[in-house]
Amino acid sequence: MNHPQPQKHLHKVELKSKDYKNETTAFWCAGCGHYGVLTGLLRALSEIGIDPNYLVSVSGIGCSSRLPYFVNSYKMHTLHGRAGPVATGVQLARTDLNVVVTGGDGDGFSIGGGHMPHMARKNVNMTYILMDNHVYGLTKGQCSPTSRTEMKTTTTPYGGMEVPLDPVLYMLTYGATYVGQAFAGNVKLASQLIKEGMEHKGFAFINLLSQCPSFNEIDTAQAFKEACNQVDPGHDVSDLDAAMHAVNAAKNEGRIPTGLLYKVERPTLDQRMAELVERVGGHKGYDLRKIIDLARP
Ligand code: SF4
Ligand code: MG
Repeated sequence: MNHPQPQKHLHKVELKSKDYKNETTAFWCAGCGHYGVLTGLLRALSEIGIDPNYLVSVSGIGCSSRLPYFVNSYKMHTLHGRAGPVATGVQLARTDLNVVVTGGDGDGFSIGGGHMPHMARKNVNMTYILMDNHVYGLTKGQCSPTSRTEMKTTTTPYGGMEVPLDPVLYMLTYGATYVGQAFAGNVKLASQLIKEGMEHKGFAFINLLSQCPSFNEIDTAQAFKEACNQVDPGHDVSDLDAAMHAVNAAKNEGRIPTGLLYKVERPTLDQRMAELVERVGGHKGYDLRKIIDLARP
């Protein structure tokens, strides 16, 4: 029995970035960095030429999780922290679709933090865009897993007591096969990383640093812009140690490394599942009706 190997199905159409924007006006605060993420995503979709009929955007809960409202695609607005597992299910059920998750640092790395390593190690064939503003925005300014220690928030009025989690190091550690980072205001780099991430076969993680002018006075657009430092053009993206070193070296200087940090090929979860089905002789052996018949007294 021949089972086709799963691929990223990039059904090509010729559409402008505005064609991927639906009729709903984006409603974030004035100056919010998430507008840059949306613009970058729309531009990437246009550059790839993805057919919106084969595009699914999935989110959890948070300001950033509104993003699918504004995109001309199929979409699922799921539970807090659960966008990843839902998106994994969508991708496995319909391997011909392009699945992109958008969400915030709280959604993805606090309540949803238990899911992140597993999507990475399984190499789920989808793109995860983190809109990282180092704070909970929707619920009005609580400390998030990526908040700086010195930041005073509604839940840490005297400053924090924890070291911030680094989503990029986290994803590199757990086996994501594509990892990039950019300031959301650098739409050119953000859209380039999203485009390459969506074309990548495997779990693509892109951290977009996105200012929240309403609840984070430290990580302003200007602060992010000044801290960002594009990785050396000679950086070897297939070298995990080099990627880790680039991140740690930049952090030691108070900088944020941007650009494509890591990219390798590894079998994806949908590919492994197709191979397994073929190895066991197809779905026949798992015919639910037969199992029910066998269970009957
Ligand atoms: Fe953006 Fe912050 Fe406003 Fe939310 S609260 S829309 S993250 S600026
Ligand atoms: Mg946030």
